[in-house]
Amino acid sequence: MVTFHGLKKKFLATMTAATLGLSLTVGAPAHVEAASATETLIAIGIQAAQLKKQIDANIKHYNATEEGRQELYQGFREKYGVCDDPEYNAKLSRIMANLTRGVAAIDPTVNDKPYIYFVADQTSINAACSMGHVMMVNKGTFQKITNEDEIAAIVGHEMGHGQKDHVAKGNRKHLQKVVTANVLGTAVGGGALTNIITNVALNHSIAHGDKRQESEADLLGFDYMIHTNYNPGACAAVMQKFVEMSIGGKRSKVEAFFNPSDHPDSEKRRDAYVKKLLEYSGNHVTAKDGVVTVNKKTFIKVAPSADMSGAERSYFVLGNLAAAYHNKQNNQAATVQNGTVMLGNQPIITPLDGDEDAQTIADRLNAIK
Ligand SMILES: [Zn+2]
Repeated sequence: MVTFHGLKKKFLATMTAATLGLSLTVGAPAHVEAASATETLIAIGIQAAQLKKQIDANIKHYNATEEGRQELYQGFREKYGVCDDPEYNAKLSRIMANLTRGVAAIDPTVNDKPYIYFVADQTSINAACSMGHVMMVNKGTFQKITNEDEIAAIVGHEMGHGQKDHVAKGNRKHLQKVVTANVLGTAVGGGALTNIITNVALNHSIAHGDKRQESEADLLGFDYMIHTNYNPGACAAVMQKFVEMSIGGKRSKVEAFFNPSDHPDSEKRRDAYVKKLLEYSGNHVTAKDGVVTVNKKTFIKVAPSADMSGAERSYFVLGNLAAAYHNKQNNQAATVQNGTVMLGNQPIITPLDGDEDAQTIADRLNAIK
């Protein structure tokens, strides 16, 4: 899959070709000679208004009708290919079901337009949400990110875009700009415009370019996550993963997802999630550089696991602690149950090689919680 900038370039090329082709076939200037300048301007104005109406109708078709969104869904399946891997498909179905419940808890409109989704046969880490709640997650995402909570965090971000119609709004804005620019020099026929819009719909799914929309999708994704059983720390953890993947020349693999303009961008987004976790905990817990802090006192430095750095894994500990505080489990004692440190009924951490032993961690939590 190409990045947003690649898509945009491609889209503009398609657009230009289509528009130029139209000007030859429609041949509007013929009657312009006879009209006064004022009449011409009025005619252009009327045409522009009609085209904008048509854009709105077409966007509505894809974004809000069952027929239109099924067309998009089929279009994306053909364009990107479908991965039939049963494990990835089962995982995505589970994530979609869990997150849909999380979305519905704060935005019940999702029940009127449930997401339609598939695993795309693409090896990069990427996910996209188009108009009509059409969602795809690349198989590369499942290959490179094994933790389901982290994939849920990615999908939750996409659903934030979906719930706020970011793609429909972006496409409408863009098409209107192009029509306004082109209608002054040429005439665009209705059928041809439909083709252009279809092209845009298929080539221009999620932009991840608008910083305001990105922040909105991040915050919504977090809100959806805290209404599921997923670990809310996974949002920060997956950003930490991207930060680490950006280092050492692997950046291109990360770039495809979220189109981060640079690596500090993922760091900023991670830190924004850590701030959300602090708020969610009632200002009790935070983490930095792999060290988790409770009530401003050092709790633990988290060791790495087989597929996560200590920093990435620390955000899962942080998420568990934030949930425990949010659900008032800090009124209970920290204990060790089957090797896992618990705070009340909330699992906090299962120590691995390199971590302190569970009882030491539980004792410290009792002392500072
Ligand atoms: Zn985004």
